[in-house]
Amino acid sequence: MTAPAKSITVIAIDGPAASGKGTLARRLAAHFDYAHLDTGALYRAVGLGVLRAGGNPEDEADAVRAAEHVAEIDLDDPALRSESTGAAASKVAAIPEVRRILLDYQRQFAATPPGNKRGAVLDGRDIGTVVCPDATHKFFITADVETRAKRRFLELFGEQGTAEQYARILEELRLRDERDMTRATAPLKPAENAHLLDTTNSDIEAVFEKALSLIRG
Ligand code: C5P
Repeated sequence: MTAPAKSITVIAIDGPAASGKGTLARRLAAHFDYAHLDTGALYRAVGLGVLRAGGNPEDEADAVRAAEHVAEIDLDDPALRSESTGAAASKVAAIPEVRRILLDYQRQFAATPPGNKRGAVLDGRDIGTVVCPDATHKFFITADVETRAKRRFLELFGEQGTAEQYARILEELRLRDERDMTRATAPLKPAENAHLLDTTNSDIEAVFEKALSLIRG
């Protein structure tokens, strides 16, 4: 007789770039000892793969080829974090075949979290709506675009950054939001039953405590 499948708790966290969703996902995963998947890193790896191969992130054949080789890219490569890789990621992410290739990997991670963990936290843009519509808990994290641009700017340049660098990041985030929210396949939007948390005026500790209290019910 086979043992009954253990029930896995899945926490889905979606939201725009630099909203704080990645930090919240890591905190929750550490707190509950669950596995964590930053799904944006997968799209970034595809975008970076296309750029490194000298391809065009908006070209379907180039993007699909990179998606098929996504496992070869080190998900800790610092080049994944740059805003140009983020822009390439949001271009490949609009291609349905790229999303299809990455979907299986994400669902598999949620169904059987690595390390034999009892739960998984996935953060991205379409986790609550498409990847894990039956997730145990869903959150949608937002913050106004200027606040997010400031966070990304400090992350990338510390106190040394210039006004031009800030302006470029703000512009790139606006473009990325627009692309992510208006694409035909799996656009960025809150799942109907997601808890909405605005982090514009809250620090990570307050957001973490709020999420914990919602999870505990
Ligand atoms: O979250 P992050 O900024 O790393 O994501 C990079 C890009 O990957 C996003 O702008 C988005 O276009 C895409 N993405 C997505 N679906 C996800 C995660 C990320 O389309 N689940």
